[in-house]
Amino acid sequence: MAGGVKRFAVFGDPIAHSLSPRIHAAFSKQTNIPLSYEAIHSPSATFEDQLAKFDGAGANITLPLKSLVVPICAELSDFARRIGAVNTLSRRLDDHWRGDNTDGPGLIQDLVERHGVNLYGRRVLMLGAGGAARAAAFALLETDIDSLVITNRTPERAAELADALADPERVMTDTFADFRNEHAFDIVIDATSAGHTGGRHKLPKHLIAPTTVCYHLSYGTAAQHFVAFAREAGAKREGDKMLR
Ligand code: NDP
Repeated sequence: MAGGVKRFAVFGDPIAHSLSPRIHAAFSKQTNIPLSYEAIHSPSATFEDQLAKFDGAGANITLPLKSLVVPICAELSDFARRIGAVNTLSRRLDDHWRGDNTDGPGLIQDLVERHGVNLYGRRVLMLGAGGAARAAAFALLETDIDSLVITNRTPERAAELADALADPERVMTDTFADFRNEHAFDIVIDATSAGHTGGRHKLPKHLIAPTTVCYHLSYGTAAQHFVAFAREAGAKREGDKMLR
């Protein structure tokens, strides 16, 4: 920590795409809080050593390290413990790391505060059952949504996530093939990584009405296909602003 300027970083692999250094530089300028923030390329095999050598005050953790960092934390927030993933580290006074997870609460805040979405009584469809879907699902179930349907390319993973959520009255799983009888959902959240690999969903268009809120957890090119699909299906509102 040079000259009183606190050091921060984001660890991940890949990391070159991360907007976090630019965002934190802008934040520092706006608030006059001096800080340094760098992106550290950190493959899983070397992450623990790299973090041990890092003398910063805090860090963000992104793919594929969010679960790996959990046992390194001496302290965990309730939400991070429940979902088993950490995306934010803060160094405590006695030099240990406290781990938190802002992915789920960040989604709710973005939907409600920025997009003005009322979650009360909403029927939500979530595509995907990986780490991002897990954080989103736990956070959604802390709100007063009516129900959450999870669908995933590998149906077994959707079933595992539904079991972990332990809310059988509100949580269901479905497959794309079974959607024939479903009505349009109020909110559709794409929590898959299909956009990173050029993959395509085969989601029936009748699940999206003009009033359906369509939201992708990634930004930029990863969200493009889903946003285009949602527009084509007639959705008037879509978002793709969650950071990682
Ligand atoms: P995971 O690898 O844990 O999960 C990927 C998910 O996408 C799985 O459900 C997988 O299905 C599905 N998927 C992948 N390719 C396809 C495809 N071609 N067609 C249909 N489904 C597909 O990744 P994450 O959950 O961590 O990340 C998912 C997305 O969310 C990424 O775009 C990531 O950048 C973004 N994100 C992640 C956050 C996080 O907390 N991890 C936070 C914010 C955004 P299957 O199980 O069948 O393999």
